Amino acid sequence: MKLIPIPAFNDNYIWMLHHDQRAVVVDPGDAQPVFKALQSLGLTLEAILVTHHHQDHTGGVAALRQATGAQVFGPCQERMPEPLQRMADGQTLGVLGLTFEVLHVPGHTAGHVAYFAQVPNQSPVLFCGDTLFSAGCGRLFEGTPAQMLQSLTRLATLPAATRVCCAHEYTLGSLQFALAVEPDNADTAAYQQRAQALRQAHQPTLPSTLALERLVNPFLRTHLPAVAHAVQQRSSHAHSPVDVFAALRAWKDQF
Ligand SMILES: [Zn+2]
Ligand SMILES: [Zn+2]
Repeated sequence: MKLIPIPAFNDNYIWMLHHDQRAVVVDPGDAQPVFKALQSLGLTLEAILVTHHHQDHTGGVAALRQATGAQVFGPCQERMPEPLQRMADGQTLGVLGLTFEVLHVPGHTAGHVAYFAQVPNQSPVLFCGDTLFSAGCGRLFEGTPAQMLQSLTRLATLPAATRVCCAHEYTLGSLQFALAVEPDNADTAAYQQRAQALRQAHQPTLPSTLALERLVNPFLRTHLPAVAHAVQQRSSHAHSPVDVFAALRAWKDQF
């Protein structure tokens, strides 16, 4: 089983898993780079997974389906290009011999879903769209801070070795903010060095792992005194976990 990020637009990744000449892609906002990858690797597209309704995640779905007949899976609660296999929280789907579990993770959008699968002889994979980014999280367009905190907390309980496949290359910007929140976090500083070297070499910083995200991602660390304290320096009223999370997200919005 091979996992590759296909770059699209400015900073999107269309994730592709392939095995035995068959492939699945996640959030194809643009069909062209996927067609190119299928052709150069000699793959048949078996399925398309979509995490949420934003155009940069769905724009290539119709063209890919039309050309390949791939089955499309997406969130049950969002307006999406039809026909679509609508997936609800806790449901599973089978592609490439893997079983993906669907997790409803509202916050960025109301119906956003993530897909998690165990992979034989490899680390598990998580396709989390615009919910969890490396060292960051998605903006709250349709959900509340309480919903996003719950969604991220749920993702954070997946196995530590899980490969985190985010839909955008936002890592360097997110790390700048993470270091503003936790200037003394040595793991974050070390990760920034590695991420800078990767980007200078035009390599993706992703996938990340949940083990790393728990060490460096301030949005998974709002329960820790260091993060809560940094937030309270700016928003003295933020005491409950949800208030701390909301203030942290608002801080990042203006950062
Ligand atoms: Zn989005
Ligand atoms: Zn996006």
